[in-house]
Amino acid sequence: MKYKLLLLSTLFTGSAIMTYAQQPKGKPEDTEFYTPVPKVVTPGKTNADPPSDAVVLFDGTNLNQWVSVQDSSKPADWTVANGIMTVNKTAGNIQTKQSFTDYQLHIEWRIPENITGTGQARGNSGVFLASTGKGDDGYELQVLDSYNNATYVNGQAGSIYKQFAPLVNANRPPGAWNVYDVVWTAPRFKGDGSVDSPARVTVFLNGVLIQNNTILKGQTLYIGQPSYKKHGPAPIKLQAHGDKSEPLSYRNIWVRPL
Ligand code: MG
Repeated sequence: MKYKLLLLSTLFTGSAIMTYAQQPKGKPEDTEFYTPVPKVVTPGKTNADPPSDAVVLFDGTNLNQWVSVQDSSKPADWTVANGIMTVNKTAGNIQTKQSFTDYQLHIEWRIPENITGTGQARGNSGVFLASTGKGDDGYELQVLDSYNNATYVNGQAGSIYKQFAPLVNANRPPGAWNVYDVVWTAPRFKGDGSVDSPARVTVFLNGVLIQNNTILKGQTLYIGQPSYKKHGPAPIKLQAHGDKSEPLSYRNIWVRPL
């Protein structure tokens, strides 16, 4: 026993000496740098308000930053009233005039309190993080009433539609506003059209992490396996889903290109 203790104390002493001997040479300043200085961004009054460097896509007054997806020469014909925009299902999808690559996006959505329907036919819409064509081409972050509404989990609100379920269900009930904060990294493609780096997305719903640097399998497909098709900077698109339930609303949309 005594011998063991002696051995242990010798080991510890030995390792302490080693640690001391391995102290690096140099000064703390060697690993401190002062440039480039991060530019100043003035945050909004609350985390919902656009920071000073954001592109405001909808401030409650008009749809000047949006166009019809079917005919991008035409204005986005959704309803604007009382500081919110409401889906017009007959007008179809709308998308931003501007195209983006990597960005941070803030967008709020509300399912009507009187929503009816079940499954995918209950307040269905979607945020296409990059719109790659007419219709539903692109990468869809699902919008749906998922407060108390069963459906396939990779089709509930906060899913990357038909690919990844959200980590948790942090939905508010119909009638309350839900908030998405999204970090989107666009895919990159090689000259021959093959994928150089896939798309990645991080999403918070109402401040709760629901997609954690998720690597997308490709563009959203309703039927079949997702795959990539080469594209460049792309608009952000909002879905006018064809289900018969009462149309939902959006407000307070801004984006920070990265
Ligand atoms: Mg949808």
